[in-house]
Amino acid sequence: QHDNTWRLLQDHLDEWVNLSKAHTSEGHVASYIPELANASPDILGICIMDSEGNTKVSGDSDFPFTLQSISKVFTLILALMDNGEEIVFSKVGMEPTGDDFNSMLKLELVEPGIPFNPLINAGAIAISSLIKGNTTDEQIDRILHFFQHIADNPSLSINQHVFRSESDTAHRNRSLAYFLKDNGVLDGEVDDVLRVYFSHCSVEVTCTDLARMALVLAHNGVDPIRKRRLIPRRFVQIAKTFMFTCGMYNASGEFAMNVGLPAKSGVSGSILTMVPGQYGIGLVGPALNRKGNSTAGVHLLGILSQEFDWSLF
Ligand code: GLU
Repeated sequence: QHDNTWRLLQDHLDEWVNLSKAHTSEGHVASYIPELANASPDILGICIMDSEGNTKVSGDSDFPFTLQSISKVFTLILALMDNGEEIVFSKVGMEPTGDDFNSMLKLELVEPGIPFNPLINAGAIAISSLIKGNTTDEQIDRILHFFQHIADNPSLSINQHVFRSESDTAHRNRSLAYFLKDNGVLDGEVDDVLRVYFSHCSVEVTCTDLARMALVLAHNGVDPIRKRRLIPRRFVQIAKTFMFTCGMYNASGEFAMNVGLPAKSGVSGSILTMVPGQYGIGLVGPALNRKGNSTAGVHLLGILSQEFDWSLF
């Protein structure tokens, strides 16, 4: 079955990417972080990696981009590894929210002041404060090393332009963080926690890095290439459940219906997804639809899922 999939990808991936590329014109590049507005709207690139590390790439697969919200999946995992489930879920809930990723209104609904889940901004900011380290720099270093470790790429680094651009303009995230601080959800000072959060959102990768990171999740925390467990199985299960229920902002239900795989998107137009037990997938298409997901990327994953019957249902 794998050989068959791989042969079809060989023959058709470029064609599917071209079909989906036509949909880039329906979207818009995010501009609320000024630096992100520099990305070309017509970019679309993808990398699919099998458990031996073979890749199929197509389109603008070398285009570098920042992880943005995709980083939240991996900071959640690191926070779980640092603190365990009980502490983490005393700071964030487990419920999907169909609201905008930075909604303040819904923030209060689970229990007073506790964000609905770790993938909305408020939840991810609370998670950033849980990363162990004696100083803020040490927390950031530990996150970067963890990302490098999962991606098997020691050269991953923080894009300082994107970091500064976001840090200078993040009025809403700042207000969320102050609100959390007032509710006793944040450990540490607001400015320090936000520096951790903006730093992990600004880690720069390519589609291949994303696919490599996704491959470890596809294999429940074991890296099939290095043949080592990198993450406890339970924590991958938690991360994938959140990806499925709220990884695509308020289009998570629609994505579950049309693609049916755990996935996380970021405002850079990136999507990380996986075929459990088989493939890691990373893609980027900076033009976003109204829900904040890559318009061409969602289209392309729809084609692939249908073609290969990838939906979990
Ligand atoms: N750093 C971005 C923010 O906090 C991430 C948003 C996203 O990718 O959804 O606004």
